[in-house]
Amino acid sequence: MLAFGHPDDESHLAGSTIAKYSAEGAEVVVVIATRGEAGEIAPGVEATPENLGEIREAELRASVAVAGASLELLDYRDSGMEGAPENKDPRAFVQADEDEVVGTLVSLMRKHRPHVVVTFDENGGYGHPDHKFISKTTTAAFLASGNAGRADPEKLAPWAPGKLYYMGFPRARIKRFIEEYVKIKPDNDFRDIDPDTMGIPDERFTTRLDVAAYVSVRLEAASKHRSQGSPFDLFPEAMHEEVFGNDYFVLVHPAPAEPTSGLESDLFAGLDWV
Ligand SMILES: [Zn+2]
Repeated sequence: MLAFGHPDDESHLAGSTIAKYSAEGAEVVVVIATRGEAGEIAPGVEATPENLGEIREAELRASVAVAGASLELLDYRDSGMEGAPENKDPRAFVQADEDEVVGTLVSLMRKHRPHVVVTFDENGGYGHPDHKFISKTTTAAFLASGNAGRADPEKLAPWAPGKLYYMGFPRARIKRFIEEYVKIKPDNDFRDIDPDTMGIPDERFTTRLDVAAYVSVRLEAASKHRSQGSPFDLFPEAMHEEVFGNDYFVLVHPAPAEPTSGLESDLFAGLDWV
């Protein structure tokens, strides 16, 4: 189970990982908190702020199907970037009651009974309020789901998932990506963002998946999010393989033994589910 904030988070960040485990026979469920109504509409796309949520839901359903997962879409509204007026909308995800969100996520964990749960790191990759909130609530739900004393709205039997991971881009890779991107497009969105606040510091990773064989599926899944476009589109496919050949994770629960003996290469490593 992978829980993120908006349509396209799942493919841009985890498309290869989803495709890999789906191809290997795992049942993969993607949970998305909002319809991404506050996203910027890509040039040339026929959409309005009024129908963007509907369009992005359809894009998300197509993308998740390509990657080989099923979808659980929550009914919150995109809160927009930090400080945007959308933050204050009563329907915004960040305005939702935290305990209610955790309860909903507990129900989904008890329904799908995942062995592994993946979400953003605490900083949500680059500080997006919805990313931080889904990370916080998914972490709380992971810890609560196995507890019989924690009721959930669907009143399902407790289920304790085995492992929780935070997923993000390695900071060193983001720096390289921005260096390359600036050459292609000097006037770009990353201009004003400090690369030292983006992604996850490389030394924090516990787990690296070789996903090179799934980059093409990932790109096809990401291409379904037509209304958004992506800076990644500007790169030749050869560079995608270099940039996206491996996906990186931080094992959060159970806390990894210290000192770590190298990186794990499988999210299911050490789990006994038979
Ligand atoms: Zn997002």
